[in-house]
Amino acid sequence: MSLVGYQRFSVIGRVVGSGSFGVVFQAKVREKGQTVAIKKVFQDDRFENREVEILCLLDHENCMPLKHAFNFLEGEEYLFYNLELEFFSENIHRVIAHYANYRQTLPLIYVKLYMFQTLRGLAYLHSMGICHRDIKPPNLLIDPASQHLKIGDFGSAKLLTNDKPSISYICSRYYRAPELLIGATDYTCSIDMWSAGVILGELLIGTPFFKGENGTEQLVEIIKVLGTPTKDQVFAMNDYYVNFQFPKIDPNDWGNVFHEKYSPIVSLEAVDLISQLLVYFPYQRMKPFEALGHPFFDEIKFGTNLPNGKLFPNLFNFQKKEFDYGKRWIRKILPNSKIIVLCYEHICSWEPNFPVC
Ligand code: ADP
Repeated sequence: MSLVGYQRFSVIGRVVGSGSFGVVFQAKVREKGQTVAIKKVFQDDRFENREVEILCLLDHENCMPLKHAFNFLEGEEYLFYNLELEFFSENIHRVIAHYANYRQTLPLIYVKLYMFQTLRGLAYLHSMGICHRDIKPPNLLIDPASQHLKIGDFGSAKLLTNDKPSISYICSRYYRAPELLIGATDYTCSIDMWSAGVILGELLIGTPFFKGENGTEQLVEIIKVLGTPTKDQVFAMNDYYVNFQFPKIDPNDWGNVFHEKYSPIVSLEAVDLISQLLVYFPYQRMKPFEALGHPFFDEIKFGTNLPNGKLFPNLFNFQKKEFDYGKRWIRKILPNSKIIVLCYEHICSWEPNFPVC
């Protein structure tokens, strides 16, 4: 990472997004004419900011890479830092809204492509112990030409360790795992898997899956689907939680849930996958690699083309590190022909444990 200033850019363009920590605008790199995004973040000394630190660790097909970071003196202070990122013009939130405008839901093939890539990004992050902590549709960026998806906004991401608590007031409300809503501070990366499950629901019905006006209502919306959590489930989510004043509601049947929320594209596989992601017990939620092997994704494992005839983005270029980590599930994730190609590319150093090679 080199430190450069705004001189690096020939054009500083329009604002393409703003978030809790700053603004994002489009720019053109002077030398190569490449379009990039610059995220300008206020340097607030009251909060620990790990964004650059975490971005520097990342190198994955489905995580937005940092190209450069720079800051400069404004008066006598460094008020902002700037992150130069690859420019991806769309995000899942806007794609869902686009279809909703026409009273439609996304074609199922896109739901599969977006979820697969999100899970691959999460599998990579979680394998390094990094929890994103703000998985939501606007942070899943898309290049519309290739349908390539990258997880963005690592402003809330954290390397979770067992020995230190983490704040529970994290993640956007609709996507917050129930343990966060009841104040857990010793949560795990499985909070991202809850968010992924909620996003799958949103992709299927075209509107946020659990839509509470505040934290309490958010929990009530979850209870309406999963039923009142048992004491064991509450303890597993937050063993310091003592207030058990939840409304008494029986779990709803998943088929019924989708009937009530209405989705023309829901399939048995989709219901099975979501029912294994939206689970109270955090340790019972599917892990990202396990989810990648779910039959919901079979169509994209064997197909190769988008509805417009273009090729799928690269879905199976697993790095050796990813491969080693996800070895247990790899047979379910990849067709044999692709496993053999990857074994060849990675020179198969894990051959003894891997019968296919
Ligand atoms: P914050 O941390 O302040 O929430 P984000 O990183 O989420 O900021 O960025 C805010 C918005 O800017 C995003 O929702 C997205 O619409 C847009 N954005 C972020 N990164 C990019 C990018 N690399 N390319 C294009 N747009 C982006």
